[in-house]
Amino acid sequence: MQQRELKAYRQEIINAVRTLLDGGVMQLSKHGNMSLRIPGTDQFLLTSVGGLEDLKEDTICLLDMEGNLIEGYISPVAREIVGMHSVVYQHREEVGSVLHTHSPAATAFAIANREIPVAYEAQVRFLGTIPVPVAGYGPRGSGESVANIAAILRENRATGGLLLANHGTLTWGDNPATAVHGSVILEESAIATMAAETLGGAKEIPAHMLHATHNRVAEFEERGAEKA
Ligand SMILES: [Zn+2]
Repeated sequence: MQQRELKAYRQEIINAVRTLLDGGVMQLSKHGNMSLRIPGTDQFLLTSVGGLEDLKEDTICLLDMEGNLIEGYISPVAREIVGMHSVVYQHREEVGSVLHTHSPAATAFAIANREIPVAYEAQVRFLGTIPVPVAGYGPRGSGESVANIAAILRENRATGGLLLANHGTLTWGDNPATAVHGSVILEESAIATMAAETLGGAKEIPAHMLHATHNRVAEFEERGAEKA
């Protein structure tokens, strides 16, 4: 791996995290972690400290899928959650980046152990056609927790993220920007769904429309931008 390439990938994480923090969706502590799989390898970069603020290139380490540290430094608090990231890469070969936060509204669903229903269109467009599932509780990054995440991934359910019971969120995508976008949409959906509770409750998108809603993004992206 060329150092120049690694530097560019680290910068990709830093830029995406900056977008996340600027978006104002994070919880007070700004705790979270993000990873990026190096394409064509079994290695990934992971933020190596407890929070996402003031991220620098030397607070992003390189690991392999077994969790062996290849380059850089990893703090105990980041070491705890290595498996929470690698499990996603091991089950989803198309995934290039994973993000974990405690964004407040989505975490409210997580601590209530409640799925987020398919009621907000943007959620269905960007996260998938099923309610955002809840992976059962286990202490952060533990064998139990990782096994519960793996169980959802193994079912190959159409979701770009999940809730970690009593803990927070996990979103993923083909790159850090997509994983951040998923996290923002997840939080928006949780806020809107809770607000709808005071108005009689969120109404789900009709089941027969879900795939059309989700596929519309790709259909129009395939056509590309138009210019008169
Ligand atoms: Zn956490």
